[in-house]
Amino acid sequence: MKPSLYIVIPCYNEREVLPITAPMFLNKLTQLVAEDKISDDSRIMFVNDGSKDDTWNIICELAKSDEHFIGISQSRNRGHQNAVLAGLMEAKDKCDITISVDCDGQDDINAMDKMVEEYIGGCEVVYGVRSSREKDTFFKRTTAQGFYRFLSGMGAEVVYNHADYRLISSKVLQELANFKEVNLFLRGMIPLVGFKSTTVEYARTERLAGESKYPLRKMLSLAVDGVTSLSVKPLRLITGFGVIVALISFVGCLWALITALCGKAVAGWASMTCIICFVSGVQLICLGIIGEYIGKIYMETKGRPRYIISQRTWEE
Ligand code: UDP
Ligand code: MG
Repeated sequence: MKPSLYIVIPCYNEREVLPITAPMFLNKLTQLVAEDKISDDSRIMFVNDGSKDDTWNIICELAKSDEHFIGISQSRNRGHQNAVLAGLMEAKDKCDITISVDCDGQDDINAMDKMVEEYIGGCEVVYGVRSSREKDTFFKRTTAQGFYRFLSGMGAEVVYNHADYRLISSKVLQELANFKEVNLFLRGMIPLVGFKSTTVEYARTERLAGESKYPLRKMLSLAVDGVTSLSVKPLRLITGFGVIVALISFVGCLWALITALCGKAVAGWASMTCIICFVSGVQLICLGIIGEYIGKIYMETKGRPRYIISQRTWEE
């Protein structure tokens, strides 16, 4: 039996690039069908993430032009991770495998052939891993690599240089559906689900049109999300740091006491000020980190829906 494939593509304000990349995705799908690797009821599913431009209209037009194009629309912009999850959850009961990929053509779609082969070979998850970032700007490249180092240093396990280009079987998605967290960091969650997995390398190229919807601000917030939703290591670091500071201050107290007893105490305003500033700075950072976790707990206890689908290109 040939598997049916759903390609899940999040789109946020992508009117420039969608008309260029949509035919490319369709070509890829048709080629895979022609090669008998996937069945003809495979689909390309666009997830409109509350775009402010006419992305949704373009998706509707595409859906009218070819039955292989379908689309869902989120009720508002919720961010890339939520858009991908919405698409995957929508697809999980309709197909055997899904591949999530960005809509800007940066991820080489020819890697899909290899992904599908790996699935047929018995893997349930296939991670697309970037072999080169030569076409990324120097800034993007260094910040992105720093991002992976930071994550692994902080105890969040992720596949190095893997973003959200991956194949997931519907079997794995059924299990992923039981992960109820509201703070999403998919590339850290999928490894937690388990099952047999492998990686496929591909070259990352430039965006075909339009500009990045992932400015540094969003990348930093994704990094913080990644760490705080996957690991409690920062809290442990704080505790360790607290112990060290306490030990140092204990030695400091002894020293002050001895000096005072020897009658050599000198008014040390500068050293005092430095210590106070330093320690209060450290305390504020620690409070901030703890606050970040409490904020996460707060959002999780609310249990709000992670996505709301307002429209579909087909009748339910
Ligand atoms: N995206 C989204 N919602 C957002 C931001 C981005 O669905 O709030 C989508 C975007 O349309 C694209 C993908 O996420 O398909 C990756 O975004 P982008 O290419 O701008 O990020 P970069 O490749 O620069 O990291
Ligand atoms: Mg991109």
